[in-house]
Amino acid sequence: MYRRTWMEVNLDAIADNVRRIRGICGKRIIAVLKADAYGCGDNHVAKAVLEAGAEMIAVSSLDEALMLRNEGYDGEILILGATDPVDAAKMAEEGISTAAYSMEWVKAVASEKPEGLKVHLKVDTGMNRIGFKDIGSLQEAFNILKDAGCRMEGIFTHFYCADTSRELTEKQFARFKEAVTSLDHDFPWIHCDNSDATVFFKDDLSNACRLGVSMYGISSYLDDLRHPISMYSHVIMTKQIKAGETIGYGARYTAENDEIIATIPIGYADGFIRANTGRCVWIDGQFAQVCGNVCMDQIMVRLEKDVPVGTPVEIFGPHIHLEQMAEELHTIPYEIICLISGRVTRIYRWHNEEELTEENARLIKSEVNFL
Ligand SMILES: *Cc1c(COP(=O)(O)O)cnc(C)c1O
Repeated sequence: MYRRTWMEVNLDAIADNVRRIRGICGKRIIAVLKADAYGCGDNHVAKAVLEAGAEMIAVSSLDEALMLRNEGYDGEILILGATDPVDAAKMAEEGISTAAYSMEWVKAVASEKPEGLKVHLKVDTGMNRIGFKDIGSLQEAFNILKDAGCRMEGIFTHFYCADTSRELTEKQFARFKEAVTSLDHDFPWIHCDNSDATVFFKDDLSNACRLGVSMYGISSYLDDLRHPISMYSHVIMTKQIKAGETIGYGARYTAENDEIIATIPIGYADGFIRANTGRCVWIDGQFAQVCGNVCMDQIMVRLEKDVPVGTPVEIFGPHIHLEQMAEELHTIPYEIICLISGRVTRIYRWHNEEELTEENARLIKSEVNFL
């Protein structure tokens, strides 16, 4: 792509984070690459996590699983979310494991003759999203699927307060343990930890952990993970405006003084949402405030001192951390990165080299002479 608004993904840093956390938990790693690996590019991130020793990839849907298959991944893959029972044969044929999460789903799948389909029973221990809440129906589901020829490969649950409450997490775990032991089956995969639980919660039942956001350096318990993702654009124009002039749609911003304004080609269609008005980006040593409404494709920011056209702009990265941006937007880092749209070029670093096409090389060149 040609527009100079891009996201950098350092795959070496992702691999380092996975190795580090794997060392801490000592269990098998299921890398959660749903939503195109949280917007980072599932096939690229897959390469890094597999090199770092992840043994299974989890996604949210059959479409995401097939995307990875089409990209050439032929290893273990698990769908965590809803699937259509009519696709049971397709999943079995592709060797894709899937969550069994409700009695309706189980009965419908059983009537599809799902010979060889690998399932992971989902136990709802309090999240109240999907899964079996009572042990009776869990046992019934187990028997129906087993009799229908499914491979009972795994059982799992999901913690809803791993970032904040040990007490609630322990309560959930106790229910999970009760559910698992009630089945008296030797599941190859037993998993309950998300990123945060993987680091702080130790148990003697599970044998794998599901890592998502911590691979990208976000953790409530570790503050020394690497930060693999950052986002940049550049200045396309600067101008001097007079006190009293307004900026952008709706004249939302009025200049108090004579001011220097820079225009940057990033907007809400890139996932830089309108709530960013009033926040700062980082330009050549200055924090520059977004003035006026964020447009679809562009923003205007106020500079203390003028800079040349072409000067790079950090949206988030070493000077403005993703967590800080999330806090300022009253959201979580997941939402910010998942919203970065498809038109933003992803640039990957792998084995300390940039994976660059000719156009991408031009994008990240910081010389001012690209025009
Ligand atoms: C998204 C998700 C994860 C990963 O969560 P993180 O907080 O990103 O580590 C794990 N398990 C399930 C079921 C999920 O939906």
